[in-house]
Amino acid sequence: TSPTEVTEHYLKRITRLDSQIQAFLRTNPAALEEARQVERRMAAGEDLPLAGVPIALKDNICTRGLETTCASRMLEHFVPPYSATVAQRLCSAGAVILGKTNLDEFAMGSSTEFSAFGPTRNPWDLGRVPGGSSGGSAAAVAADLAPLALGSDTGGSVRQPAALCGVYGFKPTYGRVSRYGLVAFASSLDQIGPLGRSVRDVALLMDVIGSYDRMDSTSLEAQPHFTAALEAHPQGFTIGIVKEAIQVGNTEGVVKALERFREVLEGQGVRFVEVSIPSLEYALATYYLVCTSEASSNLARYDGTLYGLRVEGADITETMMKTRAAGFGPEVKRRILMGTFALSSGYYDAYYGRALRARARLKADFEMAFAQADVLLTPTSPFPAFPLGAKLEDPIAMYLSDIDTVAINLVGLPALSIPAGFESGLPVGVQLVGKALEDERLFTLANAFE
Ligand code: GLN
Repeated sequence: TSPTEVTEHYLKRITRLDSQIQAFLRTNPAALEEARQVERRMAAGEDLPLAGVPIALKDNICTRGLETTCASRMLEHFVPPYSATVAQRLCSAGAVILGKTNLDEFAMGSSTEFSAFGPTRNPWDLGRVPGGSSGGSAAAVAADLAPLALGSDTGGSVRQPAALCGVYGFKPTYGRVSRYGLVAFASSLDQIGPLGRSVRDVALLMDVIGSYDRMDSTSLEAQPHFTAALEAHPQGFTIGIVKEAIQVGNTEGVVKALERFREVLEGQGVRFVEVSIPSLEYALATYYLVCTSEASSNLARYDGTLYGLRVEGADITETMMKTRAAGFGPEVKRRILMGTFALSSGYYDAYYGRALRARARLKADFEMAFAQADVLLTPTSPFPAFPLGAKLEDPIAMYLSDIDTVAINLVGLPALSIPAGFESGLPVGVQLVGKALEDERLFTLANAFE
């Protein structure tokens, strides 16, 4: 099959099935033309690692000439003048951008219900959420509306929807994938990450996007060796089960998935020990202070003067107020208010300052745990997909969905969510966490489980 045929196949599937799932906000009108161009490059003998592979991008990743909205009224008709580094690299590798996927507005949320353009549904049960905020990307891959997708992960937004949709989702070490062209939410936590239905698919994608980029000042100089890591054997590895993450609050299916993962890998010569991260209980509170503080600063740019929505008022102040009132949805407003409060003078030390100290403590605790183990194991989410609407009116309940993922972003480590079982017909995932820059090791282990 040729790139054009494959692209056509996926566009047809989207037309036929996506009205029920709503994973995509829009398809790429140039997709078939891009596929034809890939064919010409193949005919010219170019070596293209992703020749003709269609890929879905979360709609907070900038694509030149193709709307990028962050699922917000604020950017509803915004067409970026440039492409994100990841989009450029995918195209150079011969991939075809199929379309842009739904998300919680500005990637703030855990269910994709905070999209200004309506929720995405979980392909395993259309009455349930796909997780979030990269719910569109996860649902697209799970329903085979795209073989591969990219999401962004600030506090779990690639891994948690991957778990809830039964696919693989990877958050690289902070700095391994360029953030250039990713619309900023919380810059010290944001990372772009791949979703796919097999370890190999995700590894292939990482080999294409996971190297140094001078356009991102936090980019690291490391070469990606993800597909090569699939050839390695996990014998002799030690996995640390994080005590605090398995003690309470997980559903039976999640507990069983962890047990099954352990059994399979023990059978391959992997050793398991119990480790402790005492400060893990503060991670969620710390995360919601850090991410809201950074978001309040990052989102100050949407004021009606530069780009995006503009609602005219009597003077510039009123224009800004009206624009922001009309452009942002309820969750984004809540985050901006919380972050502005945490950063305000008089409260800074009590909130943001303490959050930074807690973040440093968490980092030290992870280092201690890694003195006893090469890789750590936790659930990805304490429960499988929940019904639409179940947590919409209760922000704290929604935030608790992130209990297993947010700590990883605070300490910048790589983590992979692996589909590891089912509970009442719904997929359940487990999470492997690696040392900084030892991302590839997680793929060796996941491959041995698969
Ligand atoms: N669900 C988390 C939040 O709402 C994580 C979001 C993300 O990773 N983008 O902040």
